[in-house]
Amino acid sequence: MKVQTKALLKNFINGDWVASKSTEVEIVPNPANGEEIARVPLSTKEDVDLAVTTAKEAFKTWKKTPVPKRARILFKYHQLLMEHYDELARLITKENGKCYDDAYGEVQRGIECVEFAAGAPSLMMGEVLPDIATDIESSMYRYPVGVVGGISPFNFPMMVPCWMFPLAIACGNTFILKPSERTPLLAQRLVELFVEAGLPKGVLNLVHGAHDVVNGLLEHKNVDAISFVGSQPVAEYVYKTGAGYGKRVQALAGAKNHSIVLADCDLEKTIQGIVGGAFGSAGQRCMATSVVVVTEDIADTFISKLTTAADQLVLGDGCDTSVNLGPVIRQSHLDKVHQAIEEGIEEGATLVRDGRKDGQDLDGYFLGATIFDHVTTEMNIWKNEIFAPVLSIVRVKDLTEAIEVTNESDFGNGSVLYTDSAKAVRQYREDIEVGMLGVNVNVPAPMAFFPFSGWKNSFYGDLHANGKDGVNFYTKRKMMTARY
Ligand code: NAD
Repeated sequence: MKVQTKALLKNFINGDWVASKSTEVEIVPNPANGEEIARVPLSTKEDVDLAVTTAKEAFKTWKKTPVPKRARILFKYHQLLMEHYDELARLITKENGKCYDDAYGEVQRGIECVEFAAGAPSLMMGEVLPDIATDIESSMYRYPVGVVGGISPFNFPMMVPCWMFPLAIACGNTFILKPSERTPLLAQRLVELFVEAGLPKGVLNLVHGAHDVVNGLLEHKNVDAISFVGSQPVAEYVYKTGAGYGKRVQALAGAKNHSIVLADCDLEKTIQGIVGGAFGSAGQRCMATSVVVVTEDIADTFISKLTTAADQLVLGDGCDTSVNLGPVIRQSHLDKVHQAIEEGIEEGATLVRDGRKDGQDLDGYFLGATIFDHVTTEMNIWKNEIFAPVLSIVRVKDLTEAIEVTNESDFGNGSVLYTDSAKAVRQYREDIEVGMLGVNVNVPAPMAFFPFSGWKNSFYGDLHANGKDGVNFYTKRKMMTARY
């Protein structure tokens, strides 16, 4: 790795960038070339306590700030994000590795969350029934929950934090963001721009670090709610621990998303869709296509065309617009992916395309598109999230069997059906046990005004991120029954 010493990042607490009390530091490389781009402190529980104390104090005035005034700051924030669109996309590519086009799309998805949150005056409205009995009225009022901690993953440095803090803050909460220690830079820019938009001190704080910060938030008596997005084991841990400390928790977790391909699909568009879904963002999306379940009658043709399309992908630094397959996040992750590929071979799957041979002349953490055929539900490559451009293909006789295979998975985040048949769509929609469905679209991630609604081990909690679920998560309701 080429090392240049970079300044140590700081936490943002009570309107100031302050040094962490920690002596532990992690180096952040650009995954496309291994060059150091930042040093991130692994902050302590003392740092968390400082941020929580600040956020609790700021909550006293922020919760009383009129909702339209809060919304106006979000409108200004929206404007600033639009003005910095290209800069934000480039920063995502630099620290995460995803191609510029993917990063550009991510900025858009983040901005949409701010647009939704700026509707706070409508979202915060309560309900009233003037006559539940003679002269008696019942009404429901919404209030913010208090101090919210947000813990985010590396794979969407902008979109995922934007699922959390804009809406939480619009609803009157104060917030402590703990971004992924692997992608800390974009989070800093998000905070700086929100402050520039006029956000008062202490309303949004940022504490860099890893599990100590997470535990600090989970255990702190003055943190009222936790929004988490990350891998399944950590999501389960955060949900159970946070709930044990009496907090409201939503924890969005890992996935193993199945796309079903039927013989009546538009094959060319389906191939394009699967290539985008499986290999876009180097397969590091919670909605990535990781399994294709294809009917036997078209399996050979489908796989041959898919392999040809995968051969066309250009590996490299995502800043180069001719590149469409960037690196994975770290060498350590790439090593694990190589192990998973070895395991797939040992389990008896057929390695149709071996991406390990691609990108060997590049400095970063690259893997070409990798495709396994004849995968079965006994194999670990089918069961476990690999989080890389590695695709498993399961052959089935018909849609009913394809749905059974999909439903056998412990995860239930996303799924796509490629077909031209309305009857098939209806059967799929009714019988599939997955929370986010697509029909002939490659990544069926809902927009910010709908809930991001993973099922099974892809989600722990009751209220999902975004949409009305998000508003309900970040508010508590007060009921009043009055005789006038
Ligand atoms: P991760 O679980 O390693 O890290 C997520 C966050 O948890 C980070 O901030 C990290 O610092 C913290 N963390 C990690 N280990 C911890 C531990 N032992 N104790 C306490 N905190 C810990 O996830 P990642 O690798 O950054 O992100 C990829 C994962 O996130 C994938 O599994 C992906 O499917 C999932 N994801 C899910 C969604 C969704 O909506 N369901 C969205 C994006 C990503």
